[in-house]
Amino acid sequence: MKLHTGKLYWPDVPLTRVAAPNPLPRMDQFDVIIVGAGMSGMISAYRLSRAGHKVLLVDRQGVGTGSTAANTGLIQYMSDAGVHEYAKQIGPTMAKAFYLWSQEAVGTLADIARTLGPAPERAAQVTRSLLIATNKPSVGYLSREYEAQKKLKLDVALYEKEDLSKQRLKGLSALSTRPDLALNPYAFVHHMGAYAQQHHGLTILNGVRYVSHRQNKEGGLTITLARGKQHIKAQCPRLILATGYAPPKAVAHKLRHLELYTSYVVVTDVPDVDTPTLPAMLWEKKDAYTYVRNTFDGRLMIGGRDRKSSTLTAADARKNRGSLLRAAGTLVEGLNETAPTYSYAALFGESKDSLPYMGEDPEQPEVFIICGLGGNGTVYSAIASDIALDWMQGKNPRKAAQLFRIGR
Ligand SMILES: Cc1cc2nc3c(=O)[nH]c(=O)nc-3n(C[C@H](O)[C@H](O)[C@H](O)COP(=O)(O)OP(=O)(O)OC[C@H]3O[C@@H](n4cnc5c(N)ncnc54)[C@H](O)[C@@H]3O)c2cc1C
Repeated sequence: MKLHTGKLYWPDVPLTRVAAPNPLPRMDQFDVIIVGAGMSGMISAYRLSRAGHKVLLVDRQGVGTGSTAANTGLIQYMSDAGVHEYAKQIGPTMAKAFYLWSQEAVGTLADIARTLGPAPERAAQVTRSLLIATNKPSVGYLSREYEAQKKLKLDVALYEKEDLSKQRLKGLSALSTRPDLALNPYAFVHHMGAYAQQHHGLTILNGVRYVSHRQNKEGGLTITLARGKQHIKAQCPRLILATGYAPPKAVAHKLRHLELYTSYVVVTDVPDVDTPTLPAMLWEKKDAYTYVRNTFDGRLMIGGRDRKSSTLTAADARKNRGSLLRAAGTLVEGLNETAPTYSYAALFGESKDSLPYMGEDPEQPEVFIICGLGGNGTVYSAIASDIALDWMQGKNPRKAAQLFRIGR
């Protein structure tokens, strides 16, 4: 299944560190095989290898080439649904645990970025977000969310229209959240991979696809992989399937809340020196919202216009270019409508209960599944790595991990 179409921005930013594939290793020496070298598979591969596990990471294409290359990289502890909404859905205790875990996960990502060190393409930068109300119902929503987050002692502030205007922003009010993270997701996964290869013995194979697995009578798994027409059998105690929005059959039927949307992104040219940078990453509180951020070279990256659709056509790549630029103009003052340099469309996974899937396969405890659905997929990928670490070490998961359980 095609995950994106059009001209992506992040893979065009030259990389200083590439997670290059290793030669084919002996296939019976690993503690765990991870399928999928996107954000989800890579964070777990990085953290598990750092914790001393012998990890093989395989991808049918290459590192970061799936949805991760299309990810616009607004990393926020706040999900599409506010904590006051989750409190109604899953109860206040679980909602609190979920949000505090998300905040911790942003910290985990920032810690990883610090360990990886600075790089010219700036893989990550700590920043804040502004959730902007552009209509009256959104204003009430933001006030309720502000109160709920303040109770959790999250670093949140509420701005009035006049405060926004001083920052050359439009809107009726806005909720400021921090610390959040601006990411170049493609560079980030490459840096993680290269670092873990060099320092923690991570093995990466590109062009190797997962075919199937079965439990051995004597314990452990036989995993069938393939490179072209060549089948490769691996013996391994554990398997992590982090295959993104197009999961293999063995996984797909366990993710019944998964719904696919098509999302659209444009990226403008490098601006001239007089163009002001945005004071934060911006997103809008309304359905089918628009979001805007600066890339590290000052471009505007604008996304949104999601519509329910699980297939991409070549025409999608250029759709919504004008409307995304106009929508950004309803959030930021003085935006010039120039023709974007990059535009693309990508599949985007949502879940009916606004929660991701990640955890042990209830039918096969040697298998762990990660599918980070919703606008906060990267934060969920980091949460998944916490659960995967406990799983590898035979520890009980945190109570809130049950929110994400497979097969729900
Ligand atoms: C347009 C867009 C904007 C987004 N913006 C944000 C954002 O601002 N913030 C945020 O947090 N999230 C965002 N996301 C979500 C984020 O991109 C995803 O959560 C994240 O990329 C998911 O990572 P993943 O590793 O699960 O999937 P992927 O990156 O798709 O990785 C899965 C990998 O598995 C491999 N694979 C699949 N099947 C097999 C197989 N059988 N054998 C071997 N390999 C296989 C694929 O090749 C792929 O590389 C956005 C997504 C899109 C599409």
